[in-house]
Amino acid sequence: MTRLQAASARVRRSPATGSGLLVCAPLRLEARAVRRGLRGTSQVSAGQAGAAQVVAAGYGPRRASARAAALRQQPFAALAVAGTGGGLAADLQPGDLVVASEVSDGHNVIACASAALLAGELRRAGLRVRVGRVVTVDHLVRGTERERLAATGALVADMESAVLARAADGRPLAVVRAVSDTPDRPLVSPGALGGGLAALRSLRAAGPALARWAAAAGERQVLLAGPRSFCAGVERAIEIVERALDQQGAPVYVRKQIVHNSHVVAGLEERGAVFVDELSEVPDGACVVFSAHGVSPAVRSEADQRGLTTVDATCPLVAKVHAEARRFASDGYLVALIGHEGHEEVEGTLGEAPESVALVQTAEDVGELQPADPGKVAYLMQTTLAADEAADIAEALRERFPAARAPGSDDICYATTNRQRAARAVAADSDLVLVAGSANSSNSVRLVETAQRAGATAYLIDGPSDIELSWLAGVSTIGLTAGASAPPAVVQDIITALGGLGSVEVSERVITTENIRFSLPKEVRQS
Ligand code: SF4
Repeated sequence: MTRLQAASARVRRSPATGSGLLVCAPLRLEARAVRRGLRGTSQVSAGQAGAAQVVAAGYGPRRASARAAALRQQPFAALAVAGTGGGLAADLQPGDLVVASEVSDGHNVIACASAALLAGELRRAGLRVRVGRVVTVDHLVRGTERERLAATGALVADMESAVLARAADGRPLAVVRAVSDTPDRPLVSPGALGGGLAALRSLRAAGPALARWAAAAGERQVLLAGPRSFCAGVERAIEIVERALDQQGAPVYVRKQIVHNSHVVAGLEERGAVFVDELSEVPDGACVVFSAHGVSPAVRSEADQRGLTTVDATCPLVAKVHAEARRFASDGYLVALIGHEGHEEVEGTLGEAPESVALVQTAEDVGELQPADPGKVAYLMQTTLAADEAADIAEALRERFPAARAPGSDDICYATTNRQRAARAVAADSDLVLVAGSANSSNSVRLVETAQRAGATAYLIDGPSDIELSWLAGVSTIGLTAGASAPPAVVQDIITALGGLGSVEVSERVITTENIRFSLPKEVRQS
């Protein structure tokens, strides 16, 4: 069993019985707010999940416990516990929603694996949402007890959630609490009524998202594309920044995002990396890392003139394209660079010989080229292009300039090519393809396009909270891949979140394996 298969086994649940969404709200007022929010939601009233039922389970753990035991026997497909709660974290405001990642009564912890999916849906509905632990106690929380519970990492306290959650009994579970009171506005205060009303309004507004969450519940297969996620160039770039931080301490400056992924950037920022757009933002005497996408010679010379310590994390396969641009330009060729305007890699390569390199983004652009000598045209490619699209443009170049020189070896790198082939392979057998990657990641965007060209519905997601629940309704097989800059942990997070909607069977379609490693630059080689 692979690591991912083992993970899928962990999120596998017993088969759902019955159909429809059951919402448990402790108080009648809370139940009424949710019921009003659910009114008219076709996903639940007419969709595959059947009709929604909202019950007022009663106030406090004793009543909740009796109700949970009875509800456990009922046929329903998914359980949502919804109500108001006391905010523990200082930055919560009345009306904020807390979606539980887990609920705890101090003894037992019940995970709510699909929390990120529901939270994303609520945010897209315009609500303020946090994801975290909800703690259930047997009394109203006041004064310093809020601080004590907040120190454990809990966001909200209530008196029923952990007890009612037991009614799920292996079926999909969501817990949503709307903050009614906070450390600054406790229950007995002039603002208490306003806080309670704000919480009820948020509960009502959450209704449609709960309906979509229930409609998305069901057993699924996840077909993993292999290879996916980090390539050798990205691993090397991240390791360079980590080693620079270890050796020199924070801050270490990085020009541009080290790789195009929000999780990677946030993780390195937490360790002390400071990402800047231009060298002018780097203090004199500081250390600056050049990103995996490469830089132009002008940036290198600016760093030299300023006396900055530099470490170059340019991927060796990008550096190869730079070297080809220099060689063709010095031999008197006009270099057509097939790529996307504004991408950092393209800017760096154009900067190698600005007078001799022209950007070509489409086959139509080929007609605009004005070489001094039509017999001396060469072409190069951005490393992360879609192979089939780039081939069409190269074909147009060869048609117009039959003597056009091609790069010595493929510029589109092995990692891009392999991930595109793997995405095509899973797209053929999937109802939906999800590509983990950030919106500014060229190779991730190309994976979405590749899957779409293969006939699949495909979306780019930075993480599970980007998955729109309507995409999942009626979908039984999901192809899953990740761009070369997306961490493997994000893929696992997505599988875990899907597992919160029902049993998930994970299999992997590996079209090739990769064992490429690039050596580190000498500046950081000594650990
Ligand atoms: S995608 Fe290719 S060119 Fe880009 S960093 Fe990875 S290996 Fe290097």
